[in-house]
Amino acid sequence: MPYSEFEIINKYFARQAFGSKNIILGIGDDAAVLSTPTDKQLVVSIDTLISGVHFPGQTSAADIAWKALAVNLSDLAAMGATPAWFTLALSLPQVEHDWLAAFSESLADISTAYQIPLVGGDTTRAALSITIQVAGHVQPGGALLRSGARVGDQIFVTGNIGDAALGLYALQQQLGGTADADYLIQRLNRPQPRVELGQALVNVASACIDISDGLFADLAHILKASGVGARLQQAHIPLSEAAKHFLSDNPQSLPSIYNRGDDYELCFCVPKEKCAQLDAIEKRLNCRLNHIGEIVAGCELQVFDARNKLLDLGNDNYDHFAGKV
Ligand code: ADP
Ligand code: MG
Repeated sequence: MPYSEFEIINKYFARQAFGSKNIILGIGDDAAVLSTPTDKQLVVSIDTLISGVHFPGQTSAADIAWKALAVNLSDLAAMGATPAWFTLALSLPQVEHDWLAAFSESLADISTAYQIPLVGGDTTRAALSITIQVAGHVQPGGALLRSGARVGDQIFVTGNIGDAALGLYALQQQLGGTADADYLIQRLNRPQPRVELGQALVNVASACIDISDGLFADLAHILKASGVGARLQQAHIPLSEAAKHFLSDNPQSLPSIYNRGDDYELCFCVPKEKCAQLDAIEKRLNCRLNHIGEIVAGCELQVFDARNKLLDLGNDNYDHFAGKV
């Protein structure tokens, strides 16, 4: 039986997984009505995921839904914001109930996990694309910017770097099926945005970005916005055990891991005198913070290998318009 747009919305998106006192009116009218705290600033971001560009065509509906909201939450995390609500613009080539059921269930899972309710959206018929807009709150002036890094600040990353790039490589080369490859593919499909950590870094970090285009490319955005350079020690960039095993079996996959890859970890800078505060944050949130280098004068990103030799970084990070993949 063909479903109308309204039936799809009612069946799959209108029910809220949890309540929020800030939603005066959610899905169902011409627009949502939300109350906004008067003592906070609003932080807003939007990201589109297109099949074949942001996820391989065979990605499951559940993974697509998770990732679509996770990448947006990661932008809130990078700003130090507390999630408030999101909207969803969904284009579907056809109505497939199994797909919609899996998509909406997974979306409800991540929405509950990060306590961010869906308050509205739009549903259209077209090639598969998912656009999510998120909003969050920060204390006035508290947002973590790219532009605050200063010479002498120490540079950190959360978690492990490169898993998602290797996961994509494993998928493309059809190397799934081993524990390592499956772990890396899971990291590609189910990023865990560092929302709580971002909030904890407010008033501690001088600059912050989430890693969506590769560590080097994203750190370069901080350097450009702040008018500074950086020196990194390659040996200090944390790799998961799975990544180390995978790289030893597939050494040709190495070049992609720092220059590409959507790990959705945070890269941030901390003035030396505030670094002591990181221990408590690390313990409280059970999130490993890895010191990888320091901000220096100039504008270059320099990475040194274990023998203190300067690495040639190349320039092959992903850029939608430059056409490098
Ligand atoms: P209008 O034609 O007035 O723009 P719509 O028919 O697009 O209204 O949407 C009706 C209601 O359903 C609105 O509250 C809208 O925000 C919500 N909505 C539509 N599509 C989605 C979706 N994919 N997810 C969540 N809410 C949706
Ligand atoms: Mg509409």
